[in-house]
Amino acid sequence: MSHNTQKTQALFERAKSVMPWGVSSNFRYWGDETPVIARGKGAYVWDADGNRYLDYRLAFGPIILGHADQRVNERVAQAMANGTLFAHTHPLEIEVAERLIHLCPGVEKVRFANSGTEATMHALRIARAHTGREKVVKFEGSYHGFHDYLLFSTATSPLGALGSRRSPLSAPNTSGIPAVLRDLVINVPFNDGETLERVVKAKWGDLAAIIVEPIAGNIGALMPEKGFLELIRRLCDEHGIVMIMDEVKTGFRIAKGGATEYFGVKGDLMAYAKSIANGYPLAAIGGSNAVMGTIEPGRVAQGGTYCGNGVGTAAAAATLEILETTDALEQINKRGQRLMQGIGEVLTEAGIAHSVHGVPAMFSFFLDPKETVRDYRGVLQTDHGRYERLAMAMRAHGVEYEPDPREPWFLSAAHSDQDVDDTLNALNDAVKTIK
Ligand code: PMP
Repeated sequence: MSHNTQKTQALFERAKSVMPWGVSSNFRYWGDETPVIARGKGAYVWDADGNRYLDYRLAFGPIILGHADQRVNERVAQAMANGTLFAHTHPLEIEVAERLIHLCPGVEKVRFANSGTEATMHALRIARAHTGREKVVKFEGSYHGFHDYLLFSTATSPLGALGSRRSPLSAPNTSGIPAVLRDLVINVPFNDGETLERVVKAKWGDLAAIIVEPIAGNIGALMPEKGFLELIRRLCDEHGIVMIMDEVKTGFRIAKGGATEYFGVKGDLMAYAKSIANGYPLAAIGGSNAVMGTIEPGRVAQGGTYCGNGVGTAAAAATLEILETTDALEQINKRGQRLMQGIGEVLTEAGIAHSVHGVPAMFSFFLDPKETVRDYRGVLQTDHGRYERLAMAMRAHGVEYEPDPREPWFLSAAHSDQDVDDTLNALNDAVKTIK
């Protein structure tokens, strides 16, 4: 199938003349083929030429119920009719905070923000204020947003920048980060309990927080190995360190209560965004009374003009109610399971070496892994070029997922059994192009 993309290309030219590289986020730049998407409904998006794509990117995860969900839109429209921003507490904020506390183990108090970046930034402030310490441990390949504090050794760092496994380096991912901040962040390979324990034993007196994506959702949805999250919990308890679970991708997706429900390990603080509001901007920081109680007017700051805004909280109230009272996540799980398994079967049948990772609601696969992939160093030893060629062949068949295996496939409740069948049929054809 070849698509006519004349209008899309003309729009991208216009975009480039008014926005650097024609995008509002560097992650959206695909070179000359950068899409311009005009519309979405359910599991599908349409480009400016009207070409339809079955969407497994889902805006990098938020669209848990499908694009333009009518039930969510109606709640948002109601809220908009009554005004959306007052610089006062609003009943919808209270409702959403109550829902979060009810759904998410470990959440006793909530504050709102607008993006995952803000949520992890606020969480880090709270952790530093709570402990009186400044340093933070993160895991290689993990991404926690665009602020300066954690944009080191994320999934765009080359292998050579990471240093040795025993003494990992923290590699800044962008120019423009003050050099002094590098001393405040320590990177450890994901799933490497031995290195983590050594680092914590040596530096615990300086450590405010360990921040973890419970499923490493920016390096192909790698699962935490048995005991890894429990080890982080134990080390934090033993040394007075705040454990921050970055649930921006996992929250309200892998289970109603996110990773703290799925794995049975609670952080002291959790950062939520994405699926909380089905594509409307809302984020939340939740956590224990003890740690959230560190926030105090005039002494420990958290806030922002748009925090708890009426549009985001109305969307979240509707989204969380639907997730709680329907079988949306069970459906996603069932269809995602069939898709994950089917992809593995198609690749095996085609004789293409691969490994599949993650859970049905967010998963990825790697081609030609050199070893068992358990951390970012292993991810870098797989064939990304081949993965991209396959993704582009799939896009020509009308199925879109991120052409980089580090970004998972996401499913929504709007993806049907027929969509799964269509995807597997397309894959059967597309693999021929990469054999
Ligand atoms: N944390 C994680 C785990 C993420 O995946 C992301 C975004 N992909 C963020 C934080 C940042 O969220 P946002 O893009 O909403 O700022």
